[in-house]
Amino acid sequence: MTAGHQQGRVLQQLHRLPYRVGETVMVGAIDRELDRNHSHASQVGAERFVLHGGLVPKVNHSCEPNCGIRLNSSGAHDYVARAPIAAGHEITFDYAMRNYSVEYFAARCRCGSHHCRGRITGWRDLPARRKADYDGFVAPYLIEIDDQAHTAPAARRDHRR
Ligand SMILES: [Zn+2]
Repeated sequence: MTAGHQQGRVLQQLHRLPYRVGETVMVGAIDRELDRNHSHASQVGAERFVLHGGLVPKVNHSCEPNCGIRLNSSGAHDYVARAPIAAGHEITFDYAMRNYSVEYFAARCRCGSHHCRGRITGWRDLPARRKADYDGFVAPYLIEIDDQAHTAPAARRDHRR
């Protein structure tokens, strides 16, 4: 059994109610600010990274998640159901809904979904069709970064060189 499965069991015990699409499953709170992106960091703005408190950091990645992300009034991430979630079922989200780039997960993704990308990637590396699937369930600054990249193609080419 993997660590992920054990975490899932913890969450299963805490989430006994079923959820409908659009319902808030978990309310996030920022624990502290970080000066850079790292393996436990949540991106909450174009240049802002934080650690969430409570159980938010324990929610596992899936390439076919049943939750998405919504920024709440405190600037933290809430998890919102993007598919019906049966009582006691593990909740998951896609790290790409949160972080523009994910460069610290070298290991292969083991989420087991039919849509598994094989690697845990950031928003930057999602196919356009998947971005469309996640519409309304991702952190808003990811869309803003994409829009800026499209309106400044020269700068983007320079950045990638
Ligand atoms: Zn996967």
